Amino acid sequence: MNSMHVKKGDKVRVLSGKDKGKEGVILRALPQKQRVVVEKVNIAKKAMRPTQQNPQGGIASIEAPIHVSNVMLVCPACKQPSRVSKRVNEQGKKVRVCKKCGKDID
Ligand SMILES: [Zn+2]
Repeated sequence: MNSMHVKKGDKVRVLSGKDKGKEGVILRALPQKQRVVVEKVNIAKKAMRPTQQNPQGGIASIEAPIHVSNVMLVCPACKQPSRVSKRVNEQGKKVRVCKKCGKDID
């Protein structure tokens, strides 16, 4: 298992690169590549061939994946970018824990 500290739907803060400081929601997680696609982060222009849906073709803006080490989870409880640890809760389920406020995240 290639587990990551963040997953689809998490809000994250970007730590480096041209979008440093931005926050966005993870649209896709790619655990095999240790990368994530974050809403409105690392936008790349892509030339689109004309298709049935888009007969004009043209230039599309799409989010390119960034490495998971470049993002930090924004804790839904304390709203701060924070490191997470993991623990097994009372139901035997692995959950992530915010190191800032100590709340379970999952
Ligand atoms: Zn927190």
